[in-house]
Amino acid sequence: MKFRSTLRRSPEVSLRDAVFRGSAPDGGLYMPVEMPRLPAGFSSRLRSLSFPELAREVGALFVGDDVPPDALAEIVTGAFDFPVPLITLTERLHILELFHGPTLAFKDFGARFMARLMGHFVQETGKLLTVIVATSGDTGSAVAHAFLGVPGIRVVILYPAGRVSDAQEKQLTTLGQNITALEVAGSFDDCQRLAKQALVDPIVTQEIMITSANSINIARLIPQMFYYFGAFSQLRDPAIPVVFSVPSGNLGNLTAGLLAKRIGLPAAQFIVATNTNDVVPEFLRSGQLIPRASRHTLSNAMDVGNPSNFARLVDLYDNDLRAIRQDIWGCSFSDEETLRAMHDVNQRHHYTLDPHTAVGLLGWESFAKQNQAAAQGIVLATAHPAKFAETVARAIGIRPEMPERLAGLLKRPKQSIPFPNRFSALQEFLLSSKT
Ligand SMILES: *Cc1c(COP(=O)(O)O)cnc(C)c1O
Repeated sequence: MKFRSTLRRSPEVSLRDAVFRGSAPDGGLYMPVEMPRLPAGFSSRLRSLSFPELAREVGALFVGDDVPPDALAEIVTGAFDFPVPLITLTERLHILELFHGPTLAFKDFGARFMARLMGHFVQETGKLLTVIVATSGDTGSAVAHAFLGVPGIRVVILYPAGRVSDAQEKQLTTLGQNITALEVAGSFDDCQRLAKQALVDPIVTQEIMITSANSINIARLIPQMFYYFGAFSQLRDPAIPVVFSVPSGNLGNLTAGLLAKRIGLPAAQFIVATNTNDVVPEFLRSGQLIPRASRHTLSNAMDVGNPSNFARLVDLYDNDLRAIRQDIWGCSFSDEETLRAMHDVNQRHHYTLDPHTAVGLLGWESFAKQNQAAAQGIVLATAHPAKFAETVARAIGIRPEMPERLAGLLKRPKQSIPFPNRFSALQEFLLSSKT
């Protein structure tokens, strides 16, 4: 399988190169050169497949010969060792819980698959890969958890001393194994500057293999297709047309769903549900994407004013607005509406939504009201309510309980290396500890 840039001004590359580069040299994002198709009959077989089994079949279409079947099997079994349940609230409304991974959010799917795929490619070279990440809190722990225990890779996290919350610091500093946390005497911007410099420093890049594992990596998108199939496999009546409602920010989740449809997922339509950062619903109305500064909302992981995967979305449809509008229906919601939805669903169904999933649920309700067609909705639940405990408490009056596996982490002792805000120190650290 070959990958090309959305801007089409860079050479086609192998999966391996696409994964290590992140984005293409021309600044575009990698997409498959040719769209594969699932074999006829795959949908009817879906029911009998476990999640890792279907992940293997769908994944094989995109990794081609770059990853042998046995290695792919190992990657998906290692990455997806948690359940992906479909919860039925009413006959026509289901919630796909994507938050049972280690960081309690759907980003575990993309990050864990990418980590193991990189691990596979690195092991072929016999070298050690350094993944460097600067963080102000959450991204660092998601990356660290994803790479935890992956052979051939070490993660170096830079975080600003005294400027992350206690819970965040615990998540960054208690993992151990192949994860090292540097507690930098400086700000988040200083951490980011140090990490960026390391990625381009001639001495560092000459001596060690180093990457940033960023969020637009194609290796994150591929595994996000799997759970759309996973949802289908659990439906009681797959003959009723299915509409997916996707709470969206950078559009990774939505783009993966559209890719899944392109290769054969029998989905009728997709809802792109946003908070007041509504540039995508606005694009569906006007035909123009007008980026703007992001606004702060309760569903803050979706506070995006210029979605990074938008280029992939329009590329998938060859910029054909009519075709895009056929597949995607857009809507946006305020914080007040979000809180009310959390409250109402708790009252009606005794089910607790996090604020992001609540936006997705509002999307489905709004769609169902305006489109009378007989369909069933699947709302993607992107985060565990315990991750947004304050907001949940505000909406329903009860604080959700922290799952045991996270609570345990918070009890462990912090292990970090106090570090000066100086590149020469970082350079020395990276080179001296390269095995
Ligand atoms: C990242 C994130 C989103 C948005 O997903 P995109 O793929 O960026 O559109 C939604 N909900 C949660 C909880 C997230 O962390």
